[in-house]
Amino acid sequence: MPMADTPKLKIVIAGAGPAGLTAAKELQKRGSYDIVILEAESQVGGIAKTVNYKGNRMDLGGHRFFSKSDAVMDWWLGYMAPERSEGGEEIAYQGQRRSLPQAEKTDGPRMLIRPRLSRIYYLRQFFSYPLALNLKTLSQLGLLRVFSIGVSYTWAQLFPRKPERSLEDFFINRFGQRLYRTFFKDYTEKVWGVPCEQISAEWGAQRIKGLSVRKAIAHAIKPKSQDLAQKQTETSLIERFLYPELGPGQLWELVLADVQSQGAQLKTQCRVSGLNVAEGRVQSVAFFNPQGDLETLNCDYFLSGMPLKDLVSGVQPSVDDRVAEVAKGLQYRDFMTCGLLLKRTLKPLPDNWIYVQEPDVKLGRIQVFNNWSPQLVANSDSVWLGLEYFCQEGDELWSMDDSQFLQMAAAELESLGLIATEDVLDGTVIRVPKTYPAYFGSYEQFEVLQDWINAIPNLIPMGRNGMHRYNNQDHSMLTAMEAARMIAEQDLDKTALWAINTEMEYHEEKA
Ligand SMILES: Cc1cc2nc3c(=O)[nH]c(=O)nc-3n(C[C@H](O)[C@H](O)[C@H](O)COP(=O)(O)OP(=O)(O)OC[C@H]3O[C@@H](n4cnc5c(N)ncnc54)[C@H](O)[C@@H]3O)c2cc1C
Repeated sequence: MPMADTPKLKIVIAGAGPAGLTAAKELQKRGSYDIVILEAESQVGGIAKTVNYKGNRMDLGGHRFFSKSDAVMDWWLGYMAPERSEGGEEIAYQGQRRSLPQAEKTDGPRMLIRPRLSRIYYLRQFFSYPLALNLKTLSQLGLLRVFSIGVSYTWAQLFPRKPERSLEDFFINRFGQRLYRTFFKDYTEKVWGVPCEQISAEWGAQRIKGLSVRKAIAHAIKPKSQDLAQKQTETSLIERFLYPELGPGQLWELVLADVQSQGAQLKTQCRVSGLNVAEGRVQSVAFFNPQGDLETLNCDYFLSGMPLKDLVSGVQPSVDDRVAEVAKGLQYRDFMTCGLLLKRTLKPLPDNWIYVQEPDVKLGRIQVFNNWSPQLVANSDSVWLGLEYFCQEGDELWSMDDSQFLQMAAAELESLGLIATEDVLDGTVIRVPKTYPAYFGSYEQFEVLQDWINAIPNLIPMGRNGMHRYNNQDHSMLTAMEAARMIAEQDLDKTALWAINTEMEYHEEKA
């Protein structure tokens, strides 16, 4: 007699960002599951999506595809073959150095291999980044400034601030008061919206681990590495990276098509609003459908890539006061980016991106999309820039009318001497809420949330906002891979999951 099929486990995933899509794919590799992905927006890819504005593609931030994890590199290159560059470069892949794999289809989607150039704009001049303490930099800064930088650096080495509590202490101990004020303070405060003395030193340890004045000098005189994985290189000093020719969203669209072809369901414009937790397990997930009606889905496992703050606030019956309070106190920094299409710029911009260190503008960073991939730009004669502003949901910038915002952004760029506003052809504004999970607010008591999550075996957090971790795509993917392994192997201890990215390496961008 034929055996009745065992019903498939029902997996509900919140968020079709890199974590959610990776989890779906990894589950499909490991078994047969009934997978539903609920995505609040109409497009997949999360922060790593690519927005198409009249044929000009925008990356929300400029996403380098780089990972020290072979599993992640392998994953990406499985979807998109790397371009064969003229020099016949090699990559270090799966622990071995070898030539780039041959693309299966020459007309298929390709990963470009991009050299990185990012500079700092300060004193209306370009400085190299990472800051190279060479003769050029010194002459740009001027003798007096260099002298005071040298004195304050020496002072900081002789009399470091102890204990090192805040990010300000962290920077000053490594760079000296003057260099900190010149190159780190304003930019970091623009990004986070809080003074450096209110950010923990731990944050600095994660973001610019190992970078120091001595290493910057050594790097400037060292021959450049040809090894894409560059495992021996400081994370801050990586020189080459992969980039999908149509932007990061291209990769995530390919993953989506793949997981859908294997039976996963995607429901867009479906925002998860709550979880029903009973008998110590998630029983069902509530979400608003595109018509605004509340629906529920029963599940065996819930994988969450949505912000932890939102997740906890929607749990029924309510969590205890302490958990609710810590979740409520989690903080985020939001982000706006404005795509500006131009006839030309006034200064040549060969960079991928530029850090704007000038204190007289709100602008934080400029992406030059032409240099990420020429295919991001519909007409190669135009210049397609992304002007990035760090803000808080609901603040003055966030609430500004789009056309007013575009005008303000173009005027700032003109005041920096980089463009003339009459060369602006078109533009668009994008708001990205909860872009940066912050390591201040109630983050110090994060363990309370971790314990609460650990006590619910079938609730598995993943990714950046899902775990409130400053993750890059690769870290988000690694957490999703671990989530899938946990389910497939019925090993629901979350210790290994929480341990991902606690080594605190980072390469999204630096102060
Ligand atoms: C400016 C900037 C530059 C970056 N540069 C790089 C880089 O160079 N390289 C790199 O690897 N990484 C980079 N990153 C990081 C990268 O964007 C993230 O690590 C990655 O997108 C995180 O993936 P995720 O799936 O964890 O989260 P997200 O991308 O945030 O995706 C979460 C998804 O969940 C959805 N969602 C939220 N709430 C709900 C809800 N209630 N219900 C349903 N769905 C919901 C969202 O709409 C979103 O689609 C950068 C990030 C920023 C902000």
